Amino acid sequence: MNDTLKNVSSRIRDSKYVVAFTGAGISAECGIPTYRGTDGLWNKYDPNRYANISYFLRDPSYYWNFFREVRYPLLKKSKPGQGHLALAEMEALGYLETVITQNIDGLHQDAGSSSVVELHGTTRIMSCMGCSRKYTMEDAYDRLKDTSPPLCAECQGKLRPDVVFFGEALDPQTLASAFKEAEQCDFLLVVGSSLVVYPAAAIPQKARQNGAFLAIINKEDTALDHEADVVVHGEAGRVLPQIVRSLKNK
Ligand SMILES: [Zn+2]
Repeated sequence: MNDTLKNVSSRIRDSKYVVAFTGAGISAECGIPTYRGTDGLWNKYDPNRYANISYFLRDPSYYWNFFREVRYPLLKKSKPGQGHLALAEMEALGYLETVITQNIDGLHQDAGSSSVVELHGTTRIMSCMGCSRKYTMEDAYDRLKDTSPPLCAECQGKLRPDVVFFGEALDPQTLASAFKEAEQCDFLLVVGSSLVVYPAAAIPQKARQNGAFLAIINKEDTALDHEADVVVHGEAGRVLPQIVRSLKNK
């Protein structure tokens, strides 16, 4: 292992409160496309429609067709990658407090992370737009066999995914708890995010302003590389397991 990763590991070991901030990159490594995949089926659907709130309200069946044909089957077969598993192991070892994620796929929880702040919500839970009753995505998939959009068993209201659509604000409580973590941490580990989507990208900035050590692991350059203490250009699934190994061999 190179000196940079050894340095990251020893800084993590010496820190009191480590928080991870993850983005699409960590899930892209295990086959979850961001908005544009190479997969033909995925490209059949336009993110400006299925991910946009005004379009969703106008024509919800577009989203639900996308959900039925693309998103649901993909999520049912997707498994956490080495990057997700490494972060869960860091938590289990006592080196990581919380994961703040921009992803909506639930893979951190699948990997075993217990403290996850989902900035953009989750695609695994649906809510009734009438009475707010919650449904699992499996329930929604079943109800979709009867009607599109799927309807609430309680009040016949339309269901929607608990995600933040384009054109919607982030949930204020979720955002507040993410900022609280950012203020509390003395080490922030950014993984697989290019840090260009706001307000999410303001969270690592906040941590930096509060004096946290900032390490960025991403395949490409990010908007905060110039402010980071350490930048590692690599895949989460290759880099994070090395850090975990080093944490275990103290
Ligand atoms: Zn309802």
